[in-house]
Amino acid sequence: MKQDYRLIVIGSGISGLFVALESRKLGPVLVLTKGSIEDCNTAWAQGGIAAAVGPLDSPEQHLADTIAAGAGLVDVAAARVLCYEAPSRIRDLVEYGVAFDSPGGELALGREAAHSRARVLHAGGDQTGAAIETTLAAAAATPGITILDHTIATGISTAGGAVTGVEAVDLAAGEGLSFEAPAVVIATGGAGWLYSHTTNPDVATGDGIALAYEAGAELADLEFYQFHPTAFRGDGAPPFLISEAVRGEGAVLRNAAGEAFMAGYHPLGDLAPRDIVARAIVAEMRAAGSENVFLDCTVARGVDLAARFPAIFAFCQGQGIDMRSAPIPVAPAAHYLMGGVRTDTFGRTTVPGLFAVGEAACTGVHGANRLASNSLMETVVFGKRTVECLGEAPRGAERDPRAIVDGVDGGPAPGHGTLQALMWDFAGIERSHEGLERALGTATGWANSPARPTREWHELREMGTLARLMLKAALLRTESRGAHYRSDYPEQDDRHWARRQVFRRGN
Ligand SMILES: Cc1cc2nc3c(=O)[nH]c(=O)nc-3n(C[C@H](O)[C@H](O)[C@H](O)COP(=O)(O)OP(=O)(O)OC[C@H]3O[C@@H](n4cnc5c(N)ncnc54)[C@H](O)[C@@H]3O)c2cc1C
Repeated sequence: MKQDYRLIVIGSGISGLFVALESRKLGPVLVLTKGSIEDCNTAWAQGGIAAAVGPLDSPEQHLADTIAAGAGLVDVAAARVLCYEAPSRIRDLVEYGVAFDSPGGELALGREAAHSRARVLHAGGDQTGAAIETTLAAAAATPGITILDHTIATGISTAGGAVTGVEAVDLAAGEGLSFEAPAVVIATGGAGWLYSHTTNPDVATGDGIALAYEAGAELADLEFYQFHPTAFRGDGAPPFLISEAVRGEGAVLRNAAGEAFMAGYHPLGDLAPRDIVARAIVAEMRAAGSENVFLDCTVARGVDLAARFPAIFAFCQGQGIDMRSAPIPVAPAAHYLMGGVRTDTFGRTTVPGLFAVGEAACTGVHGANRLASNSLMETVVFGKRTVECLGEAPRGAERDPRAIVDGVDGGPAPGHGTLQALMWDFAGIERSHEGLERALGTATGWANSPARPTREWHELREMGTLARLMLKAALLRTESRGAHYRSDYPEQDDRHWARRQVFRRGN
């Protein structure tokens, strides 16, 4: 018998589970997720979640830091919503059962790069994401929410320009499925898997962003991809994230010669914005001909590293490194997509009935560079507001009259590795016209091959579509700003480029 759903949510990270939990009062909710429930970026988040809850802090100060990090492109109205509603969403998470670290009954607040105050709440030390994910997953095991795992969404169905449901594949059975609902929320997370080196798990292939684009939604800010400066770098070892919070506790970056170098690049030294630290590391690696620099934690005096960072400590130990006495080899890795499906502050895309929340969405709060720990917070702030307008008649966000109308279809790339190497080499920490154009030529040449009901085939198709648009956006922006650095246009050009790029599919 066909089941009527009020809402279909694609993805089971913090965005998907929070929206499902908040909206179940409106009617039956279906959650589709392509791996197991906890396969998501959320489960890997370490540092924490930002909210101005400390006595010396204020939402206005949080807003000022968010705007400063975003390099002139932050949507101030959206960022204001984020910073002012953040403390209330912390209360919601606590009500769902998330136990933020509170030694002696006081919330512990960490300090991260480019935050002028200590305002990052964490749980389990450096296991904030895992704590949130397991808590919400347990809460979502409730009547009214159906979760289908190992089920990949492969298309958004529309009629007359509005959403009617989702096409999917049951990966265990290799069988196509079709679901109907008047509203669909894309909560599919980021796209780190587009790059050879990434902190993201393998589900982060940007599917939902490409599916939304194919359904007619607008995408924005695709040229802004954040590279985390400090991922573990070792032969055969995964690029495990070494959180900024470690530098927040006093750890220092050193080059191959053992010199602390960040003071020479930025007044904030080791706590400079991520793009500056990532580029400084690349410059030091290039100068020394090395594959990595080192994070020296021995100078983080008075901090019990094993207790404050249990996951990082255990990972390093597994690699034969005691971070209390030996430096950690680190290098940058692809981490967070600032751009995504363009939405208003209620999660509405330009397609009526289609919503996007979390890393897959682009409200404009991050501008050209995300402030650390704002991403977990945006999922719940804008997730809550999305649910608020689900009860209304579906209507889309205003279309951008200046959107770049794009007419070329993406096709499956030759393989994950080829695409990842192309993006790492030409759309990575440094880009140039020559490299981007060459990569775009290759990406555009990827031909459609016959559809197959496998996860890999579908992912490659969506990765190909998104990669091509990211390359195009990076090629068009002839300046450097935030996370987008063009070696051939190294300066910020406010006269021509203090604006965002929006893409829409068309002829
Ligand atoms: C190592 C690491 C550390 C981080 N640390 C922090 C931090 O300290 N603070 C912070 O604020 N942010 C941090 N981030 C970023 C933050 O974790 C993410 O931005 C956030 O968790 C995104 O949540 P989400 O629910 O939008 O996406 P995700 O948590 O990635 O969930 C996406 C879901 O969509 C599913 N999915 C994808 N495609 C499909 C499809 N086609 N069909 C069905 N399901 C699909 C996935 O399987 C997954 O369940 C970190 C990220 C990483 C990788």
